[in-house]
Amino acid sequence: MTFPSGTILGYPRIGRRRELKRAIEAHWAGGLDEAGLQEAAAGIRSRTRARLAELGLGARDSAIPESFSFYDQVLDAIATLGALPARFADLRGADGRIPLSAYFTAARGDQDRAPLEMTKWFDTNYHYLVPEIGPETAFSLSDRRVIDQLKEARSEGYLTRPVLVGPVTFLALAKAAPGAPSGYRPLDRLAELVPVYRELLAELQQAGAEWVQLDEPALVSQSLGYDDDELAAAARHAYAVLGSASARPSLLVAAPYGQLSDVAWRTLAAAPVEAIAVDLTRGRVPAAVPGLTEKTLVGGVIDGRNVWRGDLEVAWDRLERLRELGAAHVSAGTSTSLQHVPHDVEDEPDLDRRLASWLAFADQKTGQVAALARALENGRESVREEFAAASDAWRDRRSTPGVRDGKVRERLASRTSETARRVPYSDRLSAQEELDLPLLPTTTIGSFPQTAEIRRARAARLSGDLSDAEYDGFLRDEIARVIALQEDLGLDVLVHGEAERNDMVQYFAENLDGFAVTRNGWVQSYGSRATRPSILWGDVSRPGAITVRWSEYAQSLTSRPVKGMLTGPVTILAWSFVRDDQPLRETADQVALALRDEIADLEEAGIRIVQVDEPALRELLPLQKAAQPEYLDWSVGSFLLATAGARPETQIHTHLCYSEFDVVIEAIAALDADVTSIEAARSGGEVVSDIAAAGFAHGVGPGVYDIHSPRVPSADEIATTLERATAALPLRQLWVNPDCGLKTRGYVETVEALRHLVAATATVRARATQDA
Ligand code: GLN
Ligand code: ZN
Repeated sequence: MTFPSGTILGYPRIGRRRELKRAIEAHWAGGLDEAGLQEAAAGIRSRTRARLAELGLGARDSAIPESFSFYDQVLDAIATLGALPARFADLRGADGRIPLSAYFTAARGDQDRAPLEMTKWFDTNYHYLVPEIGPETAFSLSDRRVIDQLKEARSEGYLTRPVLVGPVTFLALAKAAPGAPSGYRPLDRLAELVPVYRELLAELQQAGAEWVQLDEPALVSQSLGYDDDELAAAARHAYAVLGSASARPSLLVAAPYGQLSDVAWRTLAAAPVEAIAVDLTRGRVPAAVPGLTEKTLVGGVIDGRNVWRGDLEVAWDRLERLRELGAAHVSAGTSTSLQHVPHDVEDEPDLDRRLASWLAFADQKTGQVAALARALENGRESVREEFAAASDAWRDRRSTPGVRDGKVRERLASRTSETARRVPYSDRLSAQEELDLPLLPTTTIGSFPQTAEIRRARAARLSGDLSDAEYDGFLRDEIARVIALQEDLGLDVLVHGEAERNDMVQYFAENLDGFAVTRNGWVQSYGSRATRPSILWGDVSRPGAITVRWSEYAQSLTSRPVKGMLTGPVTILAWSFVRDDQPLRETADQVALALRDEIADLEEAGIRIVQVDEPALRELLPLQKAAQPEYLDWSVGSFLLATAGARPETQIHTHLCYSEFDVVIEAIAALDADVTSIEAARSGGEVVSDIAAAGFAHGVGPGVYDIHSPRVPSADEIATTLERATAALPLRQLWVNPDCGLKTRGYVETVEALRHLVAATATVRARATQDA
């Protein structure tokens, strides 16, 4: 079966207007039954197929990926393979199937059981649910949604290509189930897992699939706890078994998100699979790989991770280089699924037309792939105009005013670099005693619930129904309410609640020069959540103070310290679509300088604590070990450029949003923040023991409850968590806070949870002083 000349590895699933989000949330809230939800989902899938065919992908040659998900592709695999953790076992149907309700419970948890852990997918801001695999995990084909979707496509006249997370990646991303023996490695279960894939492939073939895509991004990563050789050996085994099956569709093994290791290249070339997709935007073409003469290579030359219109000349050159490897066929593709980019630039009427002409979202990228496919089929001359237009856009970008701003560049060039705060931590500790904080200070991460009322006010202001003055008044009332609430709860360090922010990055993007924001550019972050990344297209500078008036007002209402709240340079980059015409380091430093000025203004306004959030620090860490030191160097450098100018008596906090503290512990220490709050609740005690083991000596607040779930922890539960922390770390070092901001939560559960947090802290403080 020949592979089509062009394809994309996946497409956004949430719908052009986030239809899926709305349907799913309505379903969760009880306003839409499952049949209604299924109908909405089918509508999205159907429109996606039609749109992709319209954009030039073949309707009947497997060029269109079937990559829908109700929540997450890894959770889909968990359900398909029957690998649901034991605590959800009773939710299975009598026939052993995993119904949609169980699928959602595994994702979200309920009052009795914790959800699956959630973590970031490779170096993206997409979050997947982590499989928990233990000796008891049994694998069996437990969900046939992929087969049903293929049938659904065929009934509409399409022959699509089902997409699944591959077996090696599935296990490499898994963690050992609680209770598994220490040192237990999920990947060791591969031989038992592969037969389920084999069974699924047979059923897919029965249902008419000609090609199936198995995603194996684990093969580009050195950050999953397995080395290149182990992963390649696993791939050798898995694809030997799957490839040798007699009844199966042709197999495309995809290795998106980076450089396929040499050993994995050789392994896949030697494996009995028909096609291999590689990322040629981040990875390079190796010098020679034996054994490709009967295979198709899909060159991922259109970047699935950014929004810039690809340079087709460059893409074409890369395809030519790929051809030199001697494969039977070369096809054009995207480097990754397009799930990381918004749907359509044509949906952005407010964007500057010149900027828009430089951009490509999922639909435009699909069009670029289709153009390259035509070039591969009919010669490059046949698409001369597309090539020329893309190159013109590139040239135009280089010469547009604002892309380079002389003043910004001069200031950066003349700065002296800083490697730490000017005054050492121990001296800062005494300088900060004037904050007069109790033992185990309690605080939150910054945002309070973004209520419907807040969203309504924001919308009303955008539409002009609310004047700027009225909107300001609304926000001030909101701040006053949140401050009063925190005083009533008895929290020690307060926040203003971030009601003025639609999003922690977009808010800064809207107030800095060099950024553009979109209207409909939503990208799935996790489950039903989507963010709207800003587009960082030019040199960044700060026309005026951004957060000062809100923080100042909040502080005027209370004698307790209120934290100023900023988003750090790395996170601003990670959660925006960033210009690709200069190193990230330079862009990060431009943002850092703007933040440095903001901190100085906050200090001037009487703010004594400033938190600079860097939840994305870990996320941008390169997957390849060799590239990590350089990244850590510039990311830490830009954080210090932002914060090191602060006065010693100003307490700098940072907040990190992931649980693999161990990997970047040295970098975190190098940030030299006085206090670091970090997500910890979903990962049990691991974080605390990692911190203790690393000898991290600054203030630290390992989150005591998970804010991703509506579940309210009891005071006892929080006290237990807290005591685990106090057992491992000196009391003086510890802060008490939730895992992350509260913006996605409702007020009822938030108030209850924070009451329990304060009560638990009081209990633990009392016990600690008794013991002392
Ligand atoms: N200050 C932000 C908030 O509380 C931090 C969010 C985050 O870590 N993602 O919402
Ligand atoms: Zn967070």
